[in-house]
Amino acid sequence: EQLHYVQATHDRRFSEDLHDPWLTVLLPRPVAAGERFVLEIAYEAELIERLRDASGYLLKDTGLWIPRHPDNRRRRFDLTFRVPERFRISSGGALLDERVEDDTRIMRWVTNRPVRGTMSFHMGRFEVDEVTREGLPPIAVYADRNHVGFAPGNREKTLEDLIGSLRTYIDYFGPYPFDSLAVTETRSSGGQAFPGLVLLTFHVFGALHTGESELFRAHEVAHQWWGAGADWESYRDQWITEGFANYSAALYVLSGLGEEDQFRDMLDAWRLDALGEVNVGQGFGKRYGFVPAVVRESDGNESGALVVGFRLRTTDTPFDYRLIVYEKGAFVLHMLRMLLMDLETGDDGRFRDLMRGFMDAYVGGVTNTRAFEAAVTEAFGEPMDWFFDQWVYGVDVPTYRPDLEVSPLRDAREPFVLHGRVRQEDVPPGFRSSVPIRLEFRDRDPIVRRILIDRPEVDVEIPIPAEPTRIEFNYLHGVLARVR
Ligand SMILES: [Zn+2]
Repeated sequence: EQLHYVQATHDRRFSEDLHDPWLTVLLPRPVAAGERFVLEIAYEAELIERLRDASGYLLKDTGLWIPRHPDNRRRRFDLTFRVPERFRISSGGALLDERVEDDTRIMRWVTNRPVRGTMSFHMGRFEVDEVTREGLPPIAVYADRNHVGFAPGNREKTLEDLIGSLRTYIDYFGPYPFDSLAVTETRSSGGQAFPGLVLLTFHVFGALHTGESELFRAHEVAHQWWGAGADWESYRDQWITEGFANYSAALYVLSGLGEEDQFRDMLDAWRLDALGEVNVGQGFGKRYGFVPAVVRESDGNESGALVVGFRLRTTDTPFDYRLIVYEKGAFVLHMLRMLLMDLETGDDGRFRDLMRGFMDAYVGGVTNTRAFEAAVTEAFGEPMDWFFDQWVYGVDVPTYRPDLEVSPLRDAREPFVLHGRVRQEDVPPGFRSSVPIRLEFRDRDPIVRRILIDRPEVDVEIPIPAEPTRIEFNYLHGVLARVR
């Protein structure tokens, strides 16, 4: 059959063509639904750039180098690479075949089932570590042989974070969605995830304990669930990919590494960023959140709602897409977890059930904000539109002014009472939150009580069993708020 394509030649470079790299093919006749019709596309391009210091290679475009149908449907990848013998290729799926013929290394990578999104690869002179652990997919780590920064123990630390974050996510989100995981050190500056493949910048590959590096590695692994596993439908849903991956990484720090202080630091940094309050001493390689120079250029929460997605990035607010979608997005998921958590035991089983059920319903497909709201509504057993209106579609952040004290009670079942009032400001009428208060005592277990704040001023009167030694208002950052 005679096929026609509209562009007979396609000689622009990929890098100039990111926004319109389309090839239009005219089929010779109508094709029935379900009919198999093979299109063979042959093309060549300069995909790989050699670094100036000759120590490595970069893929010019990690996602658009491979032909894909514009509707981003599910597909299998069957990729054969031919490279000079001294190089290796890492990719996603299973390495079905590797052999050398006449100084050429031939490697064939195949995904065993249809996956969403696109696929990538990386070329380099790699040291390959293959790791198997009970209950985990096989992990292969492709470390650049030219990497100069490896001190003893660094690669082990990276591997530990990969293994630990996989375990945390299987626990929180359900089975790993692919057959294996290849993690590759790249010479670029970011990280990116594809089905069964994580590209990880050399900056954090092998970096020791900095907090930020653990978060970065775990964030990219989380994309195996959020992004590669369940894809986002439109830019309005991207917070489900990036915000969720960020919070997943925080959960690894909390439950995988057992670092509750770091977990709190992260939440506080994200909170201050969203509020546009500079938090000195934070940033890459130090702690969490953005550096002060970035926060000064940001409109913070007022930049727009989560669902505005990448459009939050404007010439006036160049960082607000990342700040809102990644950080506030993570915080919003944290608030849901706090609402579902048994705050006295710390048991977040209901949150895990929500996330596992949601992932199970959409893994291998696409999901969106409405689908997540439906899953949340089911998990709570009551309408949650108020929560989504406030935090996902809205831009308001409350300020709380608690004025609370403890007094003894006579002739009452509980000998003390926590009483006073909490004022709520900076939000429209009807804005509501359930703010947890934790009370510690000298010789009994702490208790946590929630206060529903849905008016400019609410009275508080909570009977308590003893005189508290410490009162924590808005325990564990239960609500994104200023507390004055
Ligand atoms: Zn990400």
